[in-house]
Amino acid sequence: MNCLFCRIIQDKITSKRIYEDESILAFEDVSPQAPVHILIIPKKHIPTSLDIEEKDHELIGRMFQVANKIAIDRGVAERGFRIVMNCNSEAGQTVFHIHLHLLAGRAMNWPPG
Ligand code: 5GP
Ligand code: ZN
Repeated sequence: MNCLFCRIIQDKITSKRIYEDESILAFEDVSPQAPVHILIIPKKHIPTSLDIEEKDHELIGRMFQVANKIAIDRGVAERGFRIVMNCNSEAGQTVFHIHLHLLAGRAMNWPPG
């Protein structure tokens, strides 16, 4: 499959892995937008949030729990962090394999750009 994040899961593209279990992988974003910028992805290929099905509900919940664990491990949980999932072009989605962005380590703006 010609999906960048599936290739990262298969280790055909190198990434700086932070966390991995049977269903989830987390790795450093190659172009960090904050001191902490980590992507949390399911190993299952799901193109956009619109493609999440009822059978994926537990998986999606686990993605958030992994993001929380990483925020705690990085010492940013108390200060605060942002979890973002972009959907389709106007939101800025560029890789069509769902991912949570975990952003932290600086004050975040609201509304986001
Ligand atoms: P999106 O724009 O789809 O919400 O987020 C895609 C993210 O993937 C971007 O933040 C981008 O920097 C990151 N990214 C794109 N290509 C690579 C890559 O080859 N390796 C890693 N680690 N991150 C990537
Ligand atoms: Zn994929």
